[in-house]
Amino acid sequence: MPIRILILLSSILLLSQNLFATDYKWSKGTNFLSFLEKNNIPLKTYFSMDEEDKELIQEIRANQSYSIIRKKNKISEIQIPISDELMLKISNTKKGYQTTFIPIPFETVDQTISFSIKKNLKNDLYQASKKLFSVKQLEHIYAKSLPFSKMKKGDKVIIIYSQNFRNGKAFTRPEIEASMVEVNKKVFYAFLMNDGNYYDSLGKKYKCDYHCKFINPVPNFKRISSNFTQRRFHPILKRYKAHLGTDYAAQAGKRIVASGAGKIVSKGWQNGYGRTIVIQHGNGVRTLYGHMKGYAKGIFVGKKVAQGTTIGYVGSSGRSTGPHLHFGLYQNGKATNPSHYIKKQVASTVKLKGKPYQKLQTLVKRFRPTFQKAKKYDYGIKQASNKNYQQKKES
Ligand SMILES: [Zn+2]
Repeated sequence: MPIRILILLSSILLLSQNLFATDYKWSKGTNFLSFLEKNNIPLKTYFSMDEEDKELIQEIRANQSYSIIRKKNKISEIQIPISDELMLKISNTKKGYQTTFIPIPFETVDQTISFSIKKNLKNDLYQASKKLFSVKQLEHIYAKSLPFSKMKKGDKVIIIYSQNFRNGKAFTRPEIEASMVEVNKKVFYAFLMNDGNYYDSLGKKYKCDYHCKFINPVPNFKRISSNFTQRRFHPILKRYKAHLGTDYAAQAGKRIVASGAGKIVSKGWQNGYGRTIVIQHGNGVRTLYGHMKGYAKGIFVGKKVAQGTTIGYVGSSGRSTGPHLHFGLYQNGKATNPSHYIKKQVASTVKLKGKPYQKLQTLVKRFRPTFQKAKKYDYGIKQASNKNYQQKKES
């Protein structure tokens, strides 16, 4: 069902039940417990949540807008987004306040940008994409392997990307799904696969650039006990779960190291994550290390650390289950799968085979007509002709 109709229906529903929704902004540094206190909600609402849910609470971002729905001035429900896909719902029921995570509805629309070089890539890309994309993003896709400086007048660029909309407004950065770049009439295609990497149409992976130079933050971890997931419906618990990071199970006291070079920007207790360190790296990347037993000597906010520097020790602070490191990675403030950024100990050229290769060929086939049409015209931004409205699939 289109989102506008959904919202219309829910506002009619609100009106008919004398419910009134008010929007607020989550101010910087707000603690979830003090938020509950302020709204006269018992603190056990938080303390009775399971450990994974407490971690998610920690992900509420500063300036995030949220809604409180009231009936006759009494709180009936609170809705707080914790990521682009999931929100926390606190409902006032007969049994008291209850919390659940529910998906936030949105639409994904495919769009295409098509232009030829008139002046230079930087200038023409800026104009054709209405400042949506920069050369840096194209460099990232092709892993800096294309000699963009050798592009000639008339060389063609096509970008197919998806954009998420909520209430008719774009709410996340667009994601490039496929692209074609001509350098001096030589054509280079790139297709985004589920693993977060771009491949050419034959299945060869573009070599890593900055974004896969990070290392595992626990040198001797036992295993990865929980992977990153934006949202997953738990078939037994019958509810939505998310885990916005990678958990490394390891013995308490094992070393935790800086995954990349950077500067310590935060060190201290964060409710759901216990003892936590946050490092700011280049290119808008931040890493978060949670549940530490203790911090390494000489680690303080403002300190610059090299990749591999010991910053603390594995523990279970902030939660009761076994010792592990919760490792989060944020690209421009958005939680991203850390495993896409970790250097893999494999041959430098990766070529897809078997099932992944078949999947890539399905993508190539799907985008072929769009590329063929776009090759003929320079039209700037255009919505895909098939109006590919779709609800994002569950991962
Ligand atoms: Zn975790």
